[in-house]
Amino acid sequence: MLGKLLFPTDFSLQAEKLLEGLPAFQKVGTQEVVLLHAVSPIIASDWPELDPNFLLDLQKNAHTVLESWAERLENAGFKVKTRVELGTPFKEILRVAEEEKVKLIVMGAHGKGFIAGLILGSVTHNVIKHSKIPVLVYKLKVIEHYDKYTFQFVSERLFERILFPTDWSPCAMAAMQYLLQLNTEETKEVIVCRIIDEAKVKDVSEDKLAEILRENEQNLVQLKKDLEAHGLRIKPVLKVGRPALEIVNIAEEEGASLIVMGHHGRGFFKGMFLGSVSTKVLEMCKQPILLVRGE
Ligand code: ATP
Ligand code: MN
Repeated sequence: MLGKLLFPTDFSLQAEKLLEGLPAFQKVGTQEVVLLHAVSPIIASDWPELDPNFLLDLQKNAHTVLESWAERLENAGFKVKTRVELGTPFKEILRVAEEEKVKLIVMGAHGKGFIAGLILGSVTHNVIKHSKIPVLVYKLKVIEHYDKYTFQFVSERLFERILFPTDWSPCAMAAMQYLLQLNTEETKEVIVCRIIDEAKVKDVSEDKLAEILRENEQNLVQLKKDLEAHGLRIKPVLKVGRPALEIVNIAEEEGASLIVMGHHGRGFFKGMFLGSVSTKVLEMCKQPILLVRGE
């Protein structure tokens, strides 16, 4: 069972759509939601001639909107706390998440600064980069008509078909432990996939490759057994290819509703979106993706 979650919001259209998706978390045991809006003081320092009450007004307005959002969630059966903080948004999100001891941060891939084609908003990027608490980047389908955008859920049931890619590393296993908490009656199947990096086996002999495949297959069979003991239905997939690309393809082909992955955060430090498989999947996938930090 999950627990309290933090939903930081910038009041964008995407965020409003995501609000409709939150009741689904009751199925994984979430009864309490913390709603947060951070008012960035940068806005004021950029405009020194601004009325000093401007920031106060922003905070007051944020409170009013959050209260109405809270009411919607309360009607859906949640206990809700609202918080408006003054500070750099990603830092406030991290601080409040720790302070409120939430089990998950749910946020949009984009917000008010949405530009079609842009990979990820800066607030979300920074939260993932620094958060020790798992972050669900709730990607939405973007529908464009003329110059207007609307947003839809990729799948109506978030926990229905979960894709879990693994490289058997401790951080992937941390993600698996977390995944066990997401097991609901709604979960029809968990697709466990292992991609052997083609670049790493390109020079090995046929015999060696067969041995590597056999080993991984055995590991998958074992993992399937372990997870089935928790009442999950498991579909194992083993492939040789480019890991991130294959994972994104499998998510599409299998109609995944959610991707759950471990990450060690290092990819985020190497540069914007270079590095680890998880950062590449985050960049390319269409589905909501839950990132669990492990070592
Ligand atoms: P950018 O701001 O980098 O131009 P963007 O606005 O499209 O891009 P983000 O700001 O990263 O993207 O927004 C993504 C998510 O971050 C939002 O869905 C929301 O969850 C969170 N967020 C952004 N700004 C705030 C804020 N001021 N307070 C609380 N949460 C925020
Ligand atoms: Mn933004």
